[in-house]
Amino acid sequence: MACMKNADNKKVYIKTWGCQMNVYDSNRMVDILSGLGYKPSETPDDADMIILNTCHIREKATDKVFSELGRLRAHKDRNELQGKNVLMAVAGCVAQAEGNYIVERAPYVDMVFGPQTYHELPEMVLKASGEKRIVNTEIPSRSKFDHLPDEHTIEGASAFLSIQEGCDKFCTFCVVPYTRGGEYSRTAVEIIDEAKRLVDSGALEITLLGQNVNAFHGQGPDGSTWGLAELICSVSEIDGIERIRYTTSHPRDMDDDLIAVHGEIEKLQPFLHLPVQSGSDKILKAMNRKHDADLYRDIIARLKKTRPDLAFSSDYIIGFPGESDQDFEDSMQLARDVGYASCYSFKYSARPGTPAANMAKLVPDHVAAERLRRFQDLINTQQKAFNKTCEGLTMPVLFDRKGKKEGQLRGRSPYFQSVYVQGNERLIGKIVDVSISEGFENSLTGDIVTTDGQILTGTS
Ligand code: SAM
Ligand code: SF4
Repeated sequence: MACMKNADNKKVYIKTWGCQMNVYDSNRMVDILSGLGYKPSETPDDADMIILNTCHIREKATDKVFSELGRLRAHKDRNELQGKNVLMAVAGCVAQAEGNYIVERAPYVDMVFGPQTYHELPEMVLKASGEKRIVNTEIPSRSKFDHLPDEHTIEGASAFLSIQEGCDKFCTFCVVPYTRGGEYSRTAVEIIDEAKRLVDSGALEITLLGQNVNAFHGQGPDGSTWGLAELICSVSEIDGIERIRYTTSHPRDMDDDLIAVHGEIEKLQPFLHLPVQSGSDKILKAMNRKHDADLYRDIIARLKKTRPDLAFSSDYIIGFPGESDQDFEDSMQLARDVGYASCYSFKYSARPGTPAANMAKLVPDHVAAERLRRFQDLINTQQKAFNKTCEGLTMPVLFDRKGKKEGQLRGRSPYFQSVYVQGNERLIGKIVDVSISEGFENSLTGDIVTTDGQILTGTS
Protein backbone atom coordinates (compact mmCIF):
# COMPACT_ATOMS: atom_id res chain seq x y z
CA MET A 1 0.00 0.00 0.00
CA ALA A 2 1.42 3.42 -1.01
CA CYS A 3 1.08 5.05 2.38
CA MET A 4 2.91 2.18 4.10
CA LYS A 5 6.24 3.18 2.57
CA ASN A 6 5.64 6.89 3.17
CA ALA A 7 4.65 6.40 6.78
CA ASP A 8 7.85 4.69 7.94
CA ASN A 9 9.06 6.24 11.23
CA LYS A 10 5.97 8.37 11.60
CA LYS A 11 4.32 8.85 14.96
CA VAL A 12 0.73 8.65 16.15
CA TYR A 13 -0.61 10.22 19.34
CA ILE A 14 -3.90 8.83 20.64
CA LYS A 15 -5.84 10.47 23.46
CA THR A 16 -8.48 8.21 24.92
CA TRP A 17 -11.59 9.16 26.90
CA GLY A 18 -14.23 6.98 28.51
CA CYS A 19 -14.52 3.29 29.19
CA GLN A 20 -12.05 0.40 29.02
CA MET A 21 -13.52 -0.56 25.64
CA ASN A 22 -12.13 2.69 24.28
CA VAL A 23 -8.73 1.82 25.79
CA TYR A 24 -8.89 -1.55 24.03
CA ASP A 25 -9.91 0.14 20.75
CA SER A 26 -7.04 2.66 21.02
CA ASN A 27 -4.55 -0.16 21.57
CA ARG A 28 -5.93 -1.95 18.51
CA MET A 29 -5.62 1.24 16.44
CA VAL A 30 -1.95 1.34 17.43
CA ASP A 31 -1.61 -2.28 16.30
CA ILE A 32 -3.20 -1.48 12.91
CA LEU A 33 -1.18 1.69 12.41
CA SER A 34 2.10 -0.04 13.30
CA GLY A 35 1.50 -2.07 10.11
CA LEU A 36 1.62 1.27 8.28
CA GLY A 37 4.89 2.29 9.95
CA TYR A 38 3.43 4.50 12.72
CA LYS A 39 4.94 4.29 16.21
CA PRO A 40 2.92 5.40 19.26
CA SER A 41 3.91 8.75 20.74
CA GLU A 42 3.36 9.96 24.31
CA THR A 43 2.82 13.56 23.20
CA PRO A 44 1.13 15.31 20.27
CA ASP A 45 4.20 17.56 19.78
CA ASP A 46 6.06 15.37 17.30
CA ALA A 47 3.07 13.38 16.03
CA ASP A 48 2.20 12.97 12.34
CA MET A 49 -1.26 11.75 13.26
CA ILE A 50 -3.43 12.71 16.22
CA ILE A 51 -6.46 10.63 17.13
CA LEU A 52 -8.97 11.62 19.79
CA ASN A 53 -10.82 8.46 20.79
CA THR A 54 -13.93 9.89 22.34
CA CYS A 55 -16.80 9.09 24.70
CA HIS A 56 -20.35 10.37 24.32
CA ILE A 57 -21.83 9.11 27.58
CA ARG A 58 -22.09 12.48 29.31
CA GLU A 59 -22.39 16.00 27.95
CA LYS A 60 -19.12 17.39 29.25
CA ALA A 61 -17.21 14.68 27.36
CA THR A 62 -18.38 16.11 24.01
CA ASP A 63 -17.47 19.65 25.05
CA LYS A 64 -14.02 18.44 26.07
CA VAL A 65 -13.46 16.98 22.59
CA PHE A 66 -14.12 20.32 20.90
CA SER A 67 -11.92 22.22 23.33
CA GLU A 68 -9.12 19.66 22.88
CA LEU A 69 -9.49 19.96 19.09
CA GLY A 70 -9.12 23.74 19.37
CA ARG A 71 -5.92 23.28 21.41
CA LEU A 72 -4.44 20.75 19.00
CA ARG A 73 -5.29 22.83 15.96
CA ALA A 74 -2.45 25.22 16.81
CA HIS A 75 -0.08 22.26 16.78
CA LYS A 76 -1.32 21.16 13.34
CA ASP A 77 -1.06 24.71 11.95
CA ARG A 78 2.49 25.14 13.35
CA ASN A 79 3.66 21.91 11.74
CA GLU A 80 1.98 22.68 8.44
CA LEU A 81 3.79 26.03 8.27
CA GLN A 82 6.98 23.97 8.42
CA GLY A 83 5.75 21.77 5.57
CA LYS A 84 4.74 18.79 7.74
CA ASN A 85 1.28 17.36 7.21
CA VAL A 86 -0.46 16.31 10.43
CA LEU A 87 -3.57 14.15 10.11
CA MET A 88 -6.20 14.87 12.75
CA ALA A 89 -8.89 12.35 13.56
CA VAL A 90 -11.87 12.05 15.87
CA ALA A 91 -12.80 8.44 16.61
CA GLY A 92 -15.16 6.69 19.03
CA CYS A 93 -18.69 7.47 20.15
CA VAL A 94 -18.66 11.28 19.69
CA ALA A 95 -17.52 10.64 16.10
CA GLN A 96 -20.35 8.13 15.65
CA ALA A 97 -22.99 10.45 17.11
CA GLU A 98 -21.89 13.78 15.68
CA GLY A 99 -20.40 12.68 12.30
CA ASN A 100 -20.47 15.54 9.79
CA TYR A 101 -21.14 18.13 12.50
CA ILE A 102 -17.53 17.67 13.67
CA VAL A 103 -16.03 18.62 10.31
CA GLU A 104 -18.50 21.48 9.97
CA ARG A 105 -17.50 22.91 13.37
CA ALA A 106 -13.81 21.92 13.10
CA PRO A 107 -13.01 21.86 9.34
CA TYR A 108 -9.31 21.16 10.03
CA VAL A 109 -10.25 17.60 11.13
CA ASP A 110 -9.24 15.08 8.42
CA MET A 111 -10.96 11.91 9.62
CA VAL A 112 -14.08 11.19 11.65
CA PHE A 113 -14.78 7.51 12.23
CA GLY A 114 -17.01 5.52 14.57
CA PRO A 115 -16.01 2.65 16.86
CA GLN A 116 -17.06 -0.04 14.37
CA THR A 117 -14.88 1.18 11.49
CA TYR A 118 -11.33 1.58 12.79
CA HIS A 119 -10.24 -1.66 11.09
CA GLU A 120 -10.57 0.44 7.87
CA LEU A 121 -7.82 2.81 9.07
CA PRO A 122 -5.33 1.81 6.30
CA GLU A 123 -7.78 2.90 3.57
CA MET A 124 -8.93 5.95 5.52
CA VAL A 125 -5.35 7.14 6.12
CA LEU A 126 -4.53 6.68 2.45
CA LYS A 127 -7.53 8.76 1.37
CA ALA A 128 -7.03 11.45 4.01
CA SER A 129 -3.33 11.75 3.08
CA GLY A 130 -4.57 12.49 -0.45
CA GLU A 131 -6.48 15.51 0.89
CA LYS A 132 -9.85 13.73 1.03
CA ARG A 133 -11.86 14.29 4.20
CA ILE A 134 -13.27 11.10 5.71
CA VAL A 135 -16.50 10.79 7.68
CA ASN A 136 -17.16 7.12 8.34
CA THR A 137 -19.98 6.29 10.73
CA GLU A 138 -21.12 3.01 9.20
CA ILE A 139 -22.05 0.12 11.44
CA PRO A 140 -20.91 -2.63 9.05
CA SER A 141 -22.60 -6.02 9.07
CA ARG A 142 -19.21 -7.80 9.21
CA SER A 143 -17.40 -7.55 12.49
CA LYS A 144 -14.30 -5.35 12.71
CA PHE A 145 -12.70 -8.12 14.81
CA ASP A 146 -12.31 -10.23 11.63
CA HIS A 147 -9.93 -7.59 10.27
CA LEU A 148 -7.69 -6.78 13.22
CA PRO A 149 -4.01 -7.78 13.26
CA ASP A 150 -2.71 -10.61 15.47
CA GLU A 151 -0.09 -8.38 17.11
CA HIS A 152 -1.11 -6.75 20.38
CA THR A 153 -0.15 -3.64 22.28
CA ILE A 154 -0.38 -4.18 26.02
CA GLU A 155 0.78 -1.99 28.87
CA GLY A 156 2.22 -3.86 31.83
CA ALA A 157 0.90 -7.34 32.49
CA SER A 158 -2.78 -6.47 32.51
CA ALA A 159 -4.66 -6.64 29.22
CA PHE A 160 -8.17 -5.85 28.02
CA LEU A 161 -9.95 -8.20 25.65
CA SER A 162 -13.26 -7.14 24.04
CA ILE A 163 -15.57 -10.13 23.78
CA GLN A 164 -18.90 -8.40 23.19
CA GLU A 165 -20.01 -5.06 21.86
CA GLY A 166 -23.13 -2.96 21.61
CA CYS A 167 -26.32 -3.17 23.56
CA ASP A 168 -29.96 -4.11 22.99
CA LYS A 169 -31.24 -2.95 26.39
CA PHE A 170 -32.06 0.69 25.58
CA CYS A 171 -31.93 2.21 29.04
CA THR A 172 -33.73 5.51 28.53
CA PHE A 173 -30.72 7.67 29.54
CA CYS A 174 -28.03 5.92 27.51
CA VAL A 175 -26.49 6.56 24.07
CA VAL A 176 -24.64 3.24 23.80
CA PRO A 177 -27.24 1.36 21.71
CA TYR A 178 -27.09 4.24 19.19
CA THR A 179 -23.32 4.78 19.12
CA ARG A 180 -22.10 1.18 19.39
CA GLY A 181 -25.03 -0.54 17.69
CA GLY A 182 -26.78 -3.79 18.60
CA GLU A 183 -25.37 -6.59 20.73
CA TYR A 184 -22.68 -8.65 19.05
CA SER A 185 -20.61 -11.46 20.60
CA ARG A 186 -17.34 -12.76 19.19
CA THR A 187 -16.80 -16.52 18.89
CA ALA A 188 -15.16 -18.36 21.79
CA VAL A 189 -12.36 -19.62 19.52
CA GLU A 190 -11.49 -16.07 18.44
CA ILE A 191 -11.46 -14.89 22.06
CA ILE A 192 -9.38 -17.79 23.36
CA ASP A 193 -6.84 -17.35 20.54
CA GLU A 194 -6.58 -13.66 21.37
CA ALA A 195 -6.18 -14.45 25.09
CA LYS A 196 -3.29 -16.82 24.26
CA ARG A 197 -1.61 -14.14 22.16
CA LEU A 198 -1.99 -11.68 25.02
CA VAL A 199 -0.28 -14.15 27.35
CA ASP A 200 2.53 -14.49 24.78
CA SER A 201 2.85 -10.68 24.90
CA GLY A 202 3.26 -10.81 28.70
CA ALA A 203 -0.28 -10.59 30.11
CA LEU A 204 -0.90 -12.20 33.51
CA GLU A 205 -4.30 -10.60 33.98
CA ILE A 206 -7.09 -10.43 31.40
CA THR A 207 -10.19 -8.29 31.72
CA LEU A 208 -12.98 -9.48 29.43
CA LEU A 209 -14.82 -6.43 28.13
CA GLY A 210 -18.24 -5.59 26.79
CA GLN A 211 -20.78 -2.79 27.10
CA ASN A 212 -22.92 -5.56 28.48
CA VAL A 213 -20.32 -8.23 28.97
CA ASN A 214 -22.53 -10.76 30.73
CA ALA A 215 -24.98 -10.69 27.81
CA PHE A 216 -22.20 -12.54 25.96
CA HIS A 217 -23.62 -15.36 23.86
CA GLY A 218 -20.86 -16.36 21.47
CA GLN A 219 -20.50 -19.48 19.39
CA GLY A 220 -18.56 -22.19 21.24
CA PRO A 221 -15.99 -24.45 19.52
CA ASP A 222 -18.65 -27.17 19.12
CA GLY A 223 -21.15 -24.81 17.48
CA SER A 224 -23.30 -24.45 20.62
CA THR A 225 -23.91 -21.04 22.17
CA TRP A 226 -21.66 -20.25 25.11
CA GLY A 227 -22.48 -17.84 27.91
CA LEU A 228 -19.93 -15.84 29.86
CA ALA A 229 -19.59 -18.56 32.52
CA GLU A 230 -18.40 -21.15 29.97
CA LEU A 231 -16.05 -18.64 28.43
CA ILE A 232 -14.49 -17.76 31.80
CA CYS A 233 -13.94 -21.47 32.57
CA SER A 234 -12.20 -21.93 29.24
CA VAL A 235 -10.03 -18.80 29.55
CA SER A 236 -9.03 -19.89 33.07
CA GLU A 237 -7.50 -23.06 31.59
CA ILE A 238 -4.97 -21.07 29.54
CA ASP A 239 -1.50 -21.49 31.01
CA GLY A 240 0.00 -18.20 32.08
CA ILE A 241 -3.26 -16.43 32.93
CA GLU A 242 -3.28 -15.76 36.65
CA ARG A 243 -6.17 -13.33 36.99
CA ILE A 244 -9.49 -12.87 35.19
CA ARG A 245 -11.93 -9.98 35.51
CA TYR A 246 -14.97 -8.95 33.47
CA THR A 247 -16.79 -5.68 33.02
CA THR A 248 -19.39 -4.13 32.59
CA SER A 249 -22.26 -6.30 33.70
CA HIS A 250 -26.01 -5.82 33.78
CA PRO A 251 -27.95 -7.26 36.75
CA ARG A 252 -30.50 -8.89 34.39
CA ASP A 253 -27.78 -11.01 32.84
CA MET A 254 -26.26 -12.36 36.10
CA ASP A 255 -27.44 -15.92 35.47
CA ASP A 256 -27.03 -18.92 37.79
CA ASP A 257 -23.99 -20.27 35.91
CA LEU A 258 -22.19 -16.95 36.11
CA ILE A 259 -22.92 -16.62 39.83
CA ALA A 260 -21.62 -20.18 40.31
CA VAL A 261 -18.26 -19.62 38.54
CA HIS A 262 -17.39 -17.01 41.16
CA GLY A 263 -17.19 -19.87 43.64
CA GLU A 264 -15.44 -22.27 41.26
CA ILE A 265 -12.74 -20.37 39.39
CA GLU A 266 -10.07 -19.07 41.70
CA LYS A 267 -8.47 -16.97 38.97
CA LEU A 268 -11.69 -14.94 38.78
CA GLN A 269 -10.87 -11.99 41.03
CA PRO A 270 -13.10 -11.32 44.06
CA PHE A 271 -14.29 -7.93 42.84
CA LEU A 272 -17.31 -7.26 40.64
CA HIS A 273 -18.52 -4.04 39.04
CA LEU A 274 -22.29 -4.37 38.87
CA PRO A 275 -24.03 -1.09 37.94
CA VAL A 276 -27.52 -0.57 39.35
CA GLN A 277 -28.12 3.15 38.50
CA SER A 278 -30.79 3.76 41.19
CA GLY A 279 -32.25 2.26 44.36
CA SER A 280 -35.79 3.43 43.54
CA ASP A 281 -38.08 1.02 41.69
CA LYS A 282 -40.00 3.94 40.21
CA ILE A 283 -36.81 5.41 38.74
CA LEU A 284 -35.48 2.01 37.62
CA LYS A 285 -38.74 1.56 35.69
CA ALA A 286 -38.44 5.02 34.10
CA MET A 287 -34.87 4.12 33.18
CA ASN A 288 -36.13 0.91 31.49
CA ARG A 289 -33.62 -1.09 33.52
CA LYS A 290 -35.81 -4.22 33.56
CA HIS A 291 -34.91 -5.03 37.18
CA ASP A 292 -35.89 -3.68 40.56
CA ALA A 293 -33.80 -2.88 43.63
CA ASP A 294 -34.68 -6.14 45.39
CA LEU A 295 -33.54 -8.26 42.43
CA TYR A 296 -30.18 -6.46 42.70
CA ARG A 297 -30.05 -7.10 46.48
CA ASP A 298 -30.86 -10.75 45.82
CA ILE A 299 -28.08 -11.12 43.20
CA ILE A 300 -25.55 -9.55 45.58
CA ALA A 301 -26.63 -11.90 48.37
CA ARG A 302 -26.34 -14.97 46.09
CA LEU A 303 -22.92 -13.89 44.85
CA LYS A 304 -21.70 -13.36 48.43
CA LYS A 305 -22.97 -16.80 49.39
CA THR A 306 -21.03 -18.28 46.49
CA ARG A 307 -17.87 -16.34 47.25
CA PRO A 308 -17.93 -14.67 50.67
CA ASP A 309 -14.88 -12.46 50.05
CA LEU A 310 -16.44 -10.90 46.92
CA ALA A 311 -16.50 -7.07 47.02
CA PHE A 312 -18.62 -4.84 44.80
CA SER A 313 -18.61 -1.60 42.92
CA SER A 314 -21.42 0.00 40.95
CA ASP A 315 -22.65 2.98 38.93
CA TYR A 316 -25.44 5.27 40.17
CA ILE A 317 -27.09 8.12 38.28
CA ILE A 318 -28.25 10.92 40.57
CA GLY A 319 -30.95 13.41 39.55
CA PHE A 320 -32.69 11.38 36.83
CA PRO A 321 -35.93 13.15 35.70
CA GLY A 322 -38.66 12.61 38.29
CA GLU A 323 -36.23 11.60 41.10
CA SER A 324 -37.93 12.72 44.34
CA ASP A 325 -36.24 13.11 47.73
CA GLN A 326 -37.57 9.64 48.61
CA ASP A 327 -36.24 8.09 45.37
CA PHE A 328 -32.83 9.51 46.19
CA GLU A 329 -33.06 8.18 49.77
CA ASP A 330 -33.81 4.76 48.24
CA SER A 331 -30.51 4.97 46.34
CA MET A 332 -28.70 5.92 49.56
CA GLN A 333 -30.35 2.96 51.31
CA LEU A 334 -29.39 0.49 48.58
CA ALA A 335 -25.77 1.69 48.75
CA ARG A 336 -25.84 1.26 52.56
CA ASP A 337 -27.33 -2.23 52.21
CA VAL A 338 -24.67 -3.38 49.73
CA GLY A 339 -21.66 -1.64 51.34
CA TYR A 340 -19.47 -0.96 48.31
CA ALA A 341 -15.69 -1.27 48.06
CA SER A 342 -15.90 1.56 45.51
CA CYS A 343 -18.62 3.11 43.37
CA TYR A 344 -19.02 5.61 40.53
CA SER A 345 -21.82 8.15 40.67
CA PHE A 346 -22.81 10.65 38.00
CA LYS A 347 -25.21 13.56 37.83
CA TYR A 348 -27.80 12.76 35.17
CA SER A 349 -26.89 14.32 31.85
CA ALA A 350 -29.58 14.53 29.13
CA ARG A 351 -28.33 12.93 25.92
CA PRO A 352 -30.00 14.09 22.67
CA GLY A 353 -31.89 11.30 20.93
CA THR A 354 -32.49 9.26 24.10
CA PRO A 355 -36.05 8.89 25.51
CA ALA A 356 -35.09 10.41 28.88
CA ALA A 357 -34.04 13.64 27.17
CA ASN A 358 -37.76 14.33 26.55
CA MET A 359 -38.94 13.47 30.05
CA ALA A 360 -40.62 16.04 32.27
CA LYS A 361 -39.98 16.78 35.98
CA LEU A 362 -36.34 17.68 35.61
CA VAL A 363 -34.44 17.78 38.88
CA PRO A 364 -33.02 21.29 39.41
CA ASP A 365 -29.26 21.32 39.01
CA HIS A 366 -28.51 22.52 42.56
CA VAL A 367 -30.70 19.73 44.00
CA ALA A 368 -28.96 17.07 41.89
CA ALA A 369 -25.55 18.51 42.85
CA GLU A 370 -26.37 18.40 46.58
CA ARG A 371 -27.67 14.81 46.30
CA LEU A 372 -24.55 13.78 44.40
CA ARG A 373 -22.38 15.33 47.14
CA ARG A 374 -24.24 13.38 49.83
CA PHE A 375 -24.05 10.16 47.82
CA GLN A 376 -20.33 10.55 47.18
CA ASP A 377 -19.70 11.27 50.89
CA LEU A 378 -21.39 7.98 51.71
CA ILE A 379 -19.34 6.11 49.10
CA ASN A 380 -16.06 7.69 50.25
CA THR A 381 -16.84 6.56 53.79
CA GLN A 382 -17.60 3.03 52.59
CA GLN A 383 -14.49 2.91 50.44
CA LYS A 384 -12.25 4.02 53.31
CA ALA A 385 -13.91 1.50 55.65
CA PHE A 386 -13.33 -1.29 53.12
CA ASN A 387 -9.70 -0.27 52.64
CA LYS A 388 -9.22 -0.23 56.44
CA THR A 389 -10.39 -3.87 56.64
CA CYS A 390 -7.38 -4.77 54.47
CA GLU A 391 -4.83 -3.53 57.04
CA GLY A 392 -2.72 -6.44 58.29
CA LEU A 393 -3.68 -8.73 55.38
CA THR A 394 -1.19 -10.13 52.89
CA MET A 395 -2.44 -9.73 49.31
CA PRO A 396 -1.05 -10.67 45.90
CA VAL A 397 -0.44 -7.42 44.02
CA LEU A 398 0.13 -7.09 40.28
CA PHE A 399 2.60 -4.23 39.82
CA ASP A 400 1.95 -2.17 36.71
CA ARG A 401 3.90 1.09 37.01
CA LYS A 402 6.27 3.28 38.98
CA GLY A 403 4.62 5.41 41.69
CA LYS A 404 4.99 9.19 41.86
CA LYS A 405 7.50 9.07 44.74
CA GLU A 406 11.15 8.01 44.41
CA GLY A 407 11.53 4.20 44.54
CA GLN A 408 7.78 3.67 44.71
CA LEU A 409 5.75 1.10 42.73
CA ARG A 410 2.01 1.01 42.05
CA GLY A 411 0.05 -2.22 41.69
CA ARG A 412 -3.48 -3.58 41.90
CA SER A 413 -4.86 -5.83 44.64
CA PRO A 414 -7.40 -8.56 43.84
CA TYR A 415 -10.07 -5.96 44.80
CA PHE A 416 -8.63 -3.54 42.22
CA GLN A 417 -7.35 -1.16 44.90
CA SER A 418 -4.22 0.83 44.08
CA VAL A 419 -1.39 -0.47 46.30
CA TYR A 420 1.82 1.51 46.82
CA VAL A 421 5.09 0.00 48.08
CA GLN A 422 8.78 0.80 48.01
CA GLY A 423 10.27 -1.72 45.61
CA ASN A 424 12.57 -2.48 42.74
CA GLU A 425 11.34 -1.63 39.22
CA ARG A 426 12.02 -5.18 38.09
CA LEU A 427 8.83 -6.16 39.96
CA ILE A 428 6.71 -4.31 37.38
CA GLY A 429 4.69 -6.90 35.45
CA LYS A 430 4.89 -9.41 38.34
CA ILE A 431 2.45 -10.56 41.01
CA VAL A 432 4.05 -10.27 44.44
CA ASP A 433 2.67 -10.70 47.98
CA VAL A 434 2.32 -7.45 49.89
CA SER A 435 1.64 -7.01 53.61
CA ILE A 436 -0.87 -4.14 53.81
CA SER A 437 0.12 -1.58 56.42
CA GLU A 438 -2.45 1.17 55.90
CA GLY A 439 -5.76 1.69 54.10
CA PHE A 440 -6.70 5.20 52.92
CA GLU A 441 -9.76 6.49 51.07
CA ASN A 442 -8.32 5.82 47.60
CA SER A 443 -5.38 3.48 48.08
CA LEU A 444 -3.41 1.09 50.26
CA THR A 445 0.23 1.09 51.29
CA GLY A 446 2.26 -1.93 52.25
CA ASP A 447 5.54 -3.83 52.21
CA ILE A 448 6.72 -6.59 49.94
CA VAL A 449 6.71 -10.10 51.41
CA THR A 450 9.47 -12.41 50.16
CA THR A 451 8.80 -16.00 49.12
CA ASP A 452 10.18 -17.16 52.50
CA GLY A 453 7.70 -14.89 54.34
CA GLN A 454 9.97 -11.94 55.27
CA ILE A 455 8.40 -8.48 55.15
CA LEU A 456 10.78 -6.07 53.39
CA THR A 457 9.78 -2.85 55.15
CA GLY A 458 10.65 0.23 53.06
CA THR A 459 12.78 -1.70 50.52
CA SER A 460 13.91 0.21 47.45
N1 SAM B 1 -23.78 -1.27 30.48
C1 SAM B 1 -23.58 -0.72 31.73
C2 SAM B 1 -24.85 -0.88 32.55
O1 SAM B 1 -25.79 -1.46 32.13
O2 SAM B 1 -24.93 -0.34 33.63
C3 SAM B 1 -23.21 0.76 31.69
C4 SAM B 1 -22.37 1.27 30.62
S1 SAM B 1 -22.37 3.03 30.50
C5 SAM B 1 -21.28 3.07 29.20
C6 SAM B 1 -21.40 3.56 31.90
C7 SAM B 1 -22.15 4.37 32.93
O3 SAM B 1 -22.35 5.70 32.50
C8 SAM B 1 -23.54 3.88 33.25
O4 SAM B 1 -23.53 2.81 34.14
C9 SAM B 1 -24.22 5.10 33.83
O5 SAM B 1 -24.11 5.14 35.23
C10 SAM B 1 -23.44 6.25 33.21
N2 SAM B 1 -24.30 6.97 32.27
C11 SAM B 1 -24.76 6.55 31.08
N3 SAM B 1 -25.57 7.48 30.52
C12 SAM B 1 -25.62 8.51 31.38
C13 SAM B 1 -26.30 9.77 31.38
N4 SAM B 1 -27.09 10.12 30.38
N5 SAM B 1 -26.11 10.60 32.44
C14 SAM B 1 -25.30 10.25 33.47
N6 SAM B 1 -24.64 9.08 33.53
C15 SAM B 1 -24.80 8.20 32.50
FE1 SF4 C 1 -26.42 1.70 28.26
FE2 SF4 C 1 -25.73 -0.34 29.86
FE3 SF4 C 1 -28.31 0.33 29.58
FE4 SF4 C 1 -26.99 -0.80 27.53
S1 SF4 C 1 -27.47 -1.73 29.54
S2 SF4 C 1 -28.37 0.93 27.41
S3 SF4 C 1 -24.95 0.09 27.80
S4 SF4 C 1 -26.66 1.57 30.52
